[in-house]
Amino acid sequence: MKYIDEYRDGGLARSIAATIAREAVSGRHYKFMEFCGGHTHAISRYGIEDLLPSNVEMVHGPGCPVCVLPVGRIDDAIRLAMRPEVTLCTYADLMRVPASSGASLLKAKAAGADIRMMDAVLIAEAEPARQVVFFAIGFETTTPSTALSIGLARRKQLTNFSVFCNHVLTPPAIRAILDTANLPEVERVLVDGFVGPAHVSTVIGTSPYVGLAAEFEKPVVVAGFEPLDVVQAILMLVRQVNEGRSDVENQYIRAVTAEGNLIAQREIAEIFELRETFEWRGLGELPASALRLRETYAQFDAEQRFDVVPVPAADNPACECGDVLRGLKKPADCKLFGTVCSPETPMGSCMVSPEGACAAHWTYGRFRDRAKASAVRAMA
Ligand code: SF4
Repeated sequence: MKYIDEYRDGGLARSIAATIAREAVSGRHYKFMEFCGGHTHAISRYGIEDLLPSNVEMVHGPGCPVCVLPVGRIDDAIRLAMRPEVTLCTYADLMRVPASSGASLLKAKAAGADIRMMDAVLIAEAEPARQVVFFAIGFETTTPSTALSIGLARRKQLTNFSVFCNHVLTPPAIRAILDTANLPEVERVLVDGFVGPAHVSTVIGTSPYVGLAAEFEKPVVVAGFEPLDVVQAILMLVRQVNEGRSDVENQYIRAVTAEGNLIAQREIAEIFELRETFEWRGLGELPASALRLRETYAQFDAEQRFDVVPVPAADNPACECGDVLRGLKKPADCKLFGTVCSPETPMGSCMVSPEGACAAHWTYGRFRDRAKASAVRAMA
């Protein structure tokens, strides 16, 4: 296939879905987790769940970078932004993520903080009197561009540029989902396999999943973000389960290799090192799951430059984002969904980013829920 339309061919998607329905063993339930917010978005947008037989279920995972950032780190970013000498540069998605006590970067900006969604290095160069902090978030996909920014700032000898680093890693999050031995039964997410990340895997390759798949005996199929990619990956997972295999397979061969992007990996390794532990929304503290700047790049580390001291902060107790991010609940299970929580008035991070499960379900899934409910009422 050559053009994007071909990856959105409804006839072909229905034909693959019919094969899934034929091959999914009747009487057996298949539960697969799509790790990435990009897959969640595609599944909701293209109605993929409607194509699947009732015994093949998809649950959302923690792969939305905005969603997994804990409240405390947003609070830290707001405190940084409120410093008079600081210009905070960030991604647009982060602006409306709720922090503690109803705060957000957007409200901080309205209160006078200098927060911009522009190139931090260019601003630092153009405005040497400002301390420019880049609020960096994301999985392995966005880490290379942060590494390049730091390298560029060093070459330009900028002394007013720093990074508030919140980059996280995918394999430890998959491990946290699968390693349920010490959890109470109600908190265990029992999945049969994963639709593995697309963009992350272009950077890290497929090899980091091999040990996880073998250790926990769960198949992983790395897939692209187009609807045919996702449906084909689900078929590949069904086949692995039927054959009793736990392999790592690559559906996204047009972009992903086993070893990944070695140049990007080198850039990351040059500048970043593992944190001992990092808090994830929904998953709690995970060891060796995030990055910080190496000591040789300490002059670009905003946490050191501004002496950022983490202050514990709790999620809104009514928000179920934590359980949604672990696949324990679906967006519509949350009592706030569509009542007080919507993209206009988000109560949790999952309703902010288009990759968030709640936002995706709000945009594309809620009308199908209503249609199903009316059909059930009509049958009663
Ligand atoms: Fe949180 Fe809103 Fe999603 Fe409920 S609907 S889990 S409050 S983001």
